[in-house]
Amino acid sequence: MKDKFSETSYVLPENVHGKELVLLKDEAHHLSRVLRQRRGDLFVATDGLGLTFECKIVTVEKDRIIASIHGQFSGRGELKLKLTLALGLIRRDKFEWAVEKCTELGVTRFLPVITDKTVVHTNTFRLERCKRISISAIKQCCRSKLPTIAPPLSFDDMLASFRDVRVRLIAHESLGEEMRLPTAMAGFADCDSVVICIGPEGGFTESEVARSIEHGFMPVSLGARRLRSETAAVAAVSVILGACSEI
Ligand code: SAM
Repeated sequence: MKDKFSETSYVLPENVHGKELVLLKDEAHHLSRVLRQRRGDLFVATDGLGLTFECKIVTVEKDRIIASIHGQFSGRGELKLKLTLALGLIRRDKFEWAVEKCTELGVTRFLPVITDKTVVHTNTFRLERCKRISISAIKQCCRSKLPTIAPPLSFDDMLASFRDVRVRLIAHESLGEEMRLPTAMAGFADCDSVVICIGPEGGFTESEVARSIEHGFMPVSLGARRLRSETAAVAAVSVILGACSEI
């Protein structure tokens, strides 16, 4: 049944009751009006907490669909790795683009970071919009776990929040070849948690890089070209996934 569907519905965890679940509003409309699914038709839904359900439509009403659950599995589309992207606050549309792409790639946690060179105002960051973008992205890419997205925090608070993360990386563009990210990741192929920190449009200050090293972060290069923050985020996440055999 799983192969039959190109996408997944999202069901709020509180709307899963034993062997039955209820899709509401947009999710119900999409299934009944866009995909034109009817009573007896099969579909797949995820609760965003790691579970995916194989369902059969029982009732189609105006703003809701009641379905019976015929199968469930855990962890579909999820990494073994806990991967955090700490991304300096950048222009809202670019930050949201990075949330969408890095959710598709498997990032498990997003931290928006206010750094010395942050130029956008923190109120440009829309947490609820980012959560909606991540729901849409996990449905489209057939993941089953929503990434956590935190409100913006200061650079030093971000540094202090990673004592339990094994591999801590900060991408900085003025490094030499010897600090390339693939080289840095070579010894950590079996690690279970990584954080990658990417700066805003203006980059990190030398003081920020120095403070990150004091907190166990490794400065790494993403090559000889200067990438936009959002490009650097996708590039760095992809290299880390490759090094951990997750891609
Ligand atoms: N500070 C730079 C400048 O001279 O304007 C630009 C910073 S870049 C637009 C934004 C962030 O992307 C950087 O802080 C860094 O985290 C990351 N980045 C971009 N290119 C990179 C590279 N070649 N190596 C490592 N990090 C890079």
